[in-house]
Amino acid sequence: MTQRTLVTGGAGFLGSHLCQRLVDRGEHVICLDNLFTSRKETIEHLLELPNFEFVLHDITNPIEMEVDAIYNLACPAAPGHYQHNPIKTMKTNFLGAMHTLGMARANKIKIFHASTSEVYGDPSVHPQPESYRGNVNPIGLRACYDEGKRAAETLMFDYHRSHGVDIRVARIFNTYGPSMHPYDGRVVSNFIRQALAGDDITIFGDGQQSRSFCYVDDLIDAFLLMMDADEATGPINLGNPGEFTMLELANLVLELTGSNSELLMKPLPADDPTQRQPDITRAKKTLDWEPTVPLREGLQKTIAWFEGIDLSQWSPPTPNWEGGLIESS
Ligand code: NAD
Ligand code: UDP
Repeated sequence: MTQRTLVTGGAGFLGSHLCQRLVDRGEHVICLDNLFTSRKETIEHLLELPNFEFVLHDITNPIEMEVDAIYNLACPAAPGHYQHNPIKTMKTNFLGAMHTLGMARANKIKIFHASTSEVYGDPSVHPQPESYRGNVNPIGLRACYDEGKRAAETLMFDYHRSHGVDIRVARIFNTYGPSMHPYDGRVVSNFIRQALAGDDITIFGDGQQSRSFCYVDDLIDAFLLMMDADEATGPINLGNPGEFTMLELANLVLELTGSNSELLMKPLPADDPTQRQPDITRAKKTLDWEPTVPLREGLQKTIAWFEGIDLSQWSPPTPNWEGGLIESS
């Protein structure tokens, strides 16, 4: 019988890539989303398929479904998006985890949860292994996301220990690629959009802070391996260990776009982590996985996608947001 797979946040950047891959391998995919940071157009081509359906629902509201597997991705991921309504972000993380865990428990099925490197906060251990407990400011501007994700992980592990739910917790590091929201304010989308338009490239702080960027196809490979594995409770770091400063990234984007944009230094946002690099020893051992797409190649593909989109169809900061809960259809 065809496997029925629920993807919450399925219309978003990572979710839309995941839905495509699941549909391609013959699963019946139910994409649940409130379209807060995404557009239905991103998954429009999938809607024509018999093994894909879309459910407009806000995961902070309870929902019951008979499914065989769940990927819980629903949550705004870009700082500008998750800080837009921080209380809602916390609710999405906690209630979203609770409602999807409830379904996983009732159906006795596996649940994959998209956690984040942000659980490490501004790390004092480098690179970050899963055993590192992090350095998060619990009352700062990023806390709604960082602490929300930490609370969701806690709930995942408590359902696992208390009710035997088969959880798969991935700690995802910065990921980029086609279908990113061009106005999400994240560094890759900002730099590419600015470079292509000939606008100033906005460097926050001195640009010496580092991030490790994973191309989306590599990441989705890891999601599937983690879900398919007999045992992969996690948490497992998923990311590309290649580490770059924001100045290095800006210069690479300028080179690849052939742009003459100038660098414009802007103040560093509060609690902006100074460095971030995944230790992926566990992913290599458990999943036999490591990323294969170098930053230069991934950026070339991403730039090509940005060159092909009509920016007037996307608007900052959150085109479909209606300022509150969006009820299911
Ligand atoms: P995204 O913003 O593109 O996608 C998130 C999706 O969730 C959107 O379609 C949005 O509309 C939906 N959503 C938000 N709140 C919802 C709610 N209350 N109910 C239903 N749907 C809701 O972000 P993304 O980059 O695709 O991230 C997906 C997941 O991966 C998130 O949980 C994020 O925290 C995690 N993650 C992403 C990255 C990254 O670099 N992209 C890094 C770490 C973790
Ligand atoms: N950043 C930047 N210019 C921008 C957007 C972001 O220099 O236009 C910096 C930001 O301050 C951070 C890094 O790039 O140090 C990554 O930011 P992003 O929002 O992409 O992800 P996160 O901070 O959540 O890792």
